[in-house]
Amino acid sequence: MIVIAIDGPAASGKSTTARLVAQEMGFLHLDTGAMYRAVTLACMQAGLPPEESARLAKLLATLEIQFQPEAEGGQSVRLNGSLVTEDIRRPDVTRQVSAYSALPGVRESMVKLQRQIGQEHDVVCEGRDIGTQVFPDAQFKFYLVADLKVRAQRRFEEQLRKGLKPSIETIIAELEKRDREDTLREHSPLKQADDAMAVDTTTLTIPAQVEFVLSKIQAGRKKVDQTHRTKETWTSQ
Ligand code: C5P
Repeated sequence: MIVIAIDGPAASGKSTTARLVAQEMGFLHLDTGAMYRAVTLACMQAGLPPEESARLAKLLATLEIQFQPEAEGGQSVRLNGSLVTEDIRRPDVTRQVSAYSALPGVRESMVKLQRQIGQEHDVVCEGRDIGTQVFPDAQFKFYLVADLKVRAQRRFEEQLRKGLKPSIETIIAELEKRDREDTLREHSPLKQADDAMAVDTTTLTIPAQVEFVLSKIQAGRKKVDQTHRTKETWTSQ
């Protein structure tokens, strides 16, 4: 199976890029952030703060999270049978998700699920620790970055489209806080893998960043093919 890992901070362009690259290649798009968001929503609904590790472990054991790829890319998410695709994007969930995703028990069960999916499908997998922890042997690794102000503007416009009344200052503060928490946590922090290619999307349009990633995958695939060919010729002599 082929794994294309796309990591990076919040609003760096991962989801859009991963969705379109997956569509283009006919791979499954695996949005691991949605998984951590679903766990967070479940804990919030159960009134369970991140400190309550024993109760949290029990909840995790009974939790049923289902992901279903959608025809136009992306995925629908169900929590114990209920559709929560929209709810997991709520601002209150976004504010809490880093606290829950820092817990080793939460990470363990999510990573297990992610690896299982990666064993069964060719995937474009996006997150924070995909190239470093979940799939360290991924054939292709990208690390997306962008200026904080540009990332905040993207979220601002996204929230406007949803009919919300966003404040750019609040978005900047929340993005900074989440990135700090994701980068500084003890387990599987946000980090560029040594063998990942950094892509700065600050001034790139969506088609340009997708094109760039696809061109690198294409070039990499050729290299892999050539290595195999050379090796085969050599072995057969
Ligand atoms: O990608 P998204 O912004 O939806 O991710 C939400 C949160 O889930 C991140 O801020 C991070 O705390 C957590 N996450 C993670 N590891 C991943 C993906 C997301 O810890 N692989």
